[in-house]
This record gives sequence, structure tokens and C-alpha cells, in this order.
Amino acid sequence: MHKGAITRESVLKAIAEHDKWGREAFLEEYHFGKARSYVLVHDGQEYDSKAIAGVAHKWDQGRALAPGEFSGGKDHAAAWLKRLGFQVKAAQNPDWARDEIILACNLVMANGWKGLDAQDGRVIELSALLQLLPIHADADRNETFRNPNGVARKTFDIATRHPDYRGKPTKGGALDVDVLHEFLARPDQMTEVARLIREGISTGELQDLVQADDGELDDDFSAPEGRLLLRRHRARERNKELRKKKIDSVLQRGGTLACEACGFDFEEVYGERGAGYVECHHVVPLHEAGEGKTKLSDLALICANCHRMIHRRAPWPTPAELRTTIEDRRASRLHGAVIGQQRGEAAEGSTTPEGQR
Ligand SMILES: [Zn+2]
Ligand SMILES: [Zn+2]
Repeated sequence: MHKGAITRESVLKAIAEHDKWGREAFLEEYHFGKARSYVLVHDGQEYDSKAIAGVAHKWDQGRALAPGEFSGGKDHAAAWLKRLGFQVKAAQNPDWARDEIILACNLVMANGWKGLDAQDGRVIELSALLQLLPIHADADRNETFRNPNGVARKTFDIATRHPDYRGKPTKGGALDVDVLHEFLARPDQMTEVARLIREGISTGELQDLVQADDGELDDDFSAPEGRLLLRRHRARERNKELRKKKIDSVLQRGGTLACEACGFDFEEVYGERGAGYVECHHVVPLHEAGEGKTKLSDLALICANCHRMIHRRAPWPTPAELRTTIEDRRASRLHGAVIGQQRGEAAEGSTTPEGQR
């Protein structure tokens, strides 16, 4: 059995069989459930993509695939059908990302913490903007993606979570509440964040950033400002030219490439292998780092460990703050060691038999 080795003809045969029997009978015959993530669109009709792809194997491979043998998603069914030139679309739109909620929350705040309806010009404008954000892949969206109805609903999800709202909240998720609280705690900063996202989209700067490390960003990077501004931060720190200029300027002034937080020096520890290596951290907070050039003074030299620790949890400490933490901990460990040593000596003294002295 060669999974996924199917032809366009056999997919069309599966579609024909589906049309002849009807959806229920077709799914029952082959033990498939209804498509949850992707649907196949053919001649204006929607089909359960996984079932169609699985059944197509009957003609090309001798038997239909059973539902447990493959996934319906991007790795299997959806990918096979797309490769054959079929249109596959998401059955459901993706959950709202933090960036999207920030923009919606900003609108709700500007509206006196009240929800807005789908006919409102500001909702229509935001709907168009959300469709431009480079966050969700086209394949994951369907035709209702962030349409004015969906955006209006989200404004109510947010508004009805406001502490002053005296009614039952509409659905919404934990992230809505999270972002709402960020806005209540730091209204000016979060308004500026929303403005920066809008600005980055209108200039095109945010569209061009690679999404390569988004997986990593989700796991171990935390920023209330959302994914797009975080991507920009990372791009600025990884800019090879800037990094080289920064390193050169430090060396020219007779400095070393030691970490500004912990003092780790890659060359000192790793010798030739570590020579010239250090990471750059962009010290300007995300809500202040607008368009424009990064100055060398905006970059700090930082080792990989400290860099990771800075980004791990918001709010991010400055390198100087992290250095204070490291030094305090080192001092208290040293103190503990000295006390321990004194106690150890004292204990030794008391148990030493007199005859052995
Ligand atoms: Zn360090
Ligand atoms: Zn950084």
C-alpha cells in the first residue's frame, strides 16, 4: 500500500460514488466521519476531504484506506488532493491570534468598551485589515474568514468580559480575557502596540517577515504584544549586517564580546570555535520599537542562554536587570556555601575523638 499515491481519475470516481449514494451512505460504507478540518470543493459542492481521499485508494491501490491509517490534514488527505489540483479549504476558521484580538480590543476600547455591529464602518475596515495579516495561511481560512459578522461577534466577546459589564458574557476564549486585561492595565502601551501593527501592515514591513520560527515563538517566547511585533524584534536581532556592525564597534572601542548580563565569553570558553560569536538582543521594548532604523545602541551583546531567559517570560528584563538577578543569586549561593562550610567545620570539630588529635 502506497499511501497518497492516488490519481485525479480515482478521486473523481470517489466523488461520483459519493454523489450516487449520498453523503450519509458513502461515509457509512467506508466508516468515515464528517470532515472536521478540511473540505474538498468540486463543481460548487463540498465533500468530506478525508473520506474522498481514502476511498480514491480503492482504484489506485486495490482497497480504500481506513480512517485510522491516515490524517485528513495538511500532511495527508488535504495535501494529496491539493497536489492533484483540487480545491481544498478549511472547514473552520482558525482561532483568533493575539495580534488579531489586540486590534479588536483596541476598537472596543475606543468605543467605550461596547461591542460594535457588523454594519459599523470601523468593523468593516478592521475585517479588511485582519484579512491582510500574515498570520493564518490561506489554506487554513474559509470564505467567512474574519468577515464583518465574525469581527462584530468578537467585539462583543471582548466587551462582555469587561469587569464593569453586568450581564452574561458571550462565548469568547481565555485569550480574549488576557488581552482585555493587558489593555486595562496598560492602555497607552497597548494602544501603541495596535498602532504599530497597523503601521507595519500598511508599510508592508510586517508582511515580509519570515514565519520560520513561529513554532519556537509559541513555546518559549512570551510577549503580550503579539506575534507580528515579536517577529520584527527577532528579525532585527538576527540582521547579520547590524550584528556585525555592533560587534565591530565594540571591538574597536577595545571591548570584548562577553555577555552583558552574565559575562560569558564564547571565545574564552570554546576557544577558536567560539571566537567572534555572540547574540544581539534588541533592547527597545516592542511597544516603542516603531518603524525606522535600528541604532547600534539599541542592541546589547548577550549569550544564548541569557537571551533565551530574557524572552522566556514577559515582561522582559533588560540585560542590566538580568545581571542584577544573576549577581544576587551568585552572592546568596556564595553566602550559603560559606555558612555551610563553617557549619561543616564546626561539626567536624565536635565529632573528632580527642585521641586522634
Ligand atoms: Zn549571558
Ligand atoms: Zn532578544
